[in-house]
Amino acid sequence: MTNNRKELWLTLMKIVAVDPFYLRMPDITTAADGTQDTLLVRVRTDTGLEGWGECDASPLVSLAVYCCPMSHGNIINIRTSLIGETLEGPDDALRLSEKVLRNGLDIQQIQHAYSGAEIALWDLVGQRLGKPIYRLLAEMSETSDIAHPKLPYASVLFGDTPEDTYQIAVGLRERGYRAAKFGWGPMGKFGAANDIALVEAARSGMGLEAQIMIDAGVVWGNDHETAYQRAEAFAQFSPTWLEEPLAPDAIDAYGALTQRNPSVPIAAGEGSDTYRTAEDLIVHGGVQFVQIDAGRIGGIMPSFQVRQLAEQHGIQYVNHTFKSHLSLAAALHVFATNPDFDLLEYPAAGSELSQRLVTEPFPVKSDGMVRVRELPGLGVRVDTAAIRDYLAPVRIEVGTDTIFAVQDF
Ligand SMILES: [Mg+2]
Repeated sequence: MTNNRKELWLTLMKIVAVDPFYLRMPDITTAADGTQDTLLVRVRTDTGLEGWGECDASPLVSLAVYCCPMSHGNIINIRTSLIGETLEGPDDALRLSEKVLRNGLDIQQIQHAYSGAEIALWDLVGQRLGKPIYRLLAEMSETSDIAHPKLPYASVLFGDTPEDTYQIAVGLRERGYRAAKFGWGPMGKFGAANDIALVEAARSGMGLEAQIMIDAGVVWGNDHETAYQRAEAFAQFSPTWLEEPLAPDAIDAYGALTQRNPSVPIAAGEGSDTYRTAEDLIVHGGVQFVQIDAGRIGGIMPSFQVRQLAEQHGIQYVNHTFKSHLSLAAALHVFATNPDFDLLEYPAAGSELSQRLVTEPFPVKSDGMVRVRELPGLGVRVDTAAIRDYLAPVRIEVGTDTIFAVQDF
């Protein structure tokens, strides 16, 4: 090895630690509120740089994927795959993803769990190269690197009654939201008249100028006939879309529904835990909005690939984000450079944990829009001091061996 090559080798950035953190609110309820707990992942390097990511999945199930003992060559945990590896640029992030997924071939939860680490790797690469992630993606795909503002839609749950829903909508309108999505709760559970009254309440509370979206929360399962009837009944209130009327994997039912061209466009995809799942919904399910959670599908790159597929199919890509603004940052970088993909799911009623998680949440600017940050990496910082009280110490022992232990950040 020549001196020059040796020097270059010595300066390569190496991963020295991969730490998952389980955080939770004191009381967890059955409400469809994904901000009640979370799994954060911090990746540290020998340069002092550290990257962060967040998973939208069961925290402890995912945490296990970081530390489970090796079963054989296809069940090797994420930490083992990453620690000691070099990370200099986007190619390394892709190479490491391939390695992690190959080593975890037979771990069912691998994409959910790896999402946090993958996002952290991109955060690190961006910091290392001094560029925001969206620009790295633009360079890789040789596409425009101009970021465009997004219209944030407040993402909230339906109230228990139409009257409650109306009050929630009025509150959002007073806070300046020009778009809002109402979901889950009573939708689909008390008959057509109540469903229609819920949507009517959302529309009248938000006003005629606003965009409203309806999230049925997978309530009709495989029943595409009921989903079609509701889409037709809701059309009088002009929602931008009807989201997840059917089960996430009811691909044939989605296909049957969308072939009838319902008067309200159909959205789905937040449950996608691989690129292939999202592709199935687009190609065979015929959805017009595909909603991807970078914290579930395996991180930034598979999300970006779905964005590219949406562009090829002439449908709209939207983020799914029901976590903190750390997740929102990851989501924004994926589709910041496409001006036609102009809607942003914006968590508007999350837990204290989710609201305190980053030092500077993304503000809604005076023009009503949200913009990606022109800072290296994700462009947000985790406020460990502010969320320390929510950190749940975890210790996993097998026999006399401690295979995982976290007390503090
Ligand atoms: Mg949804």
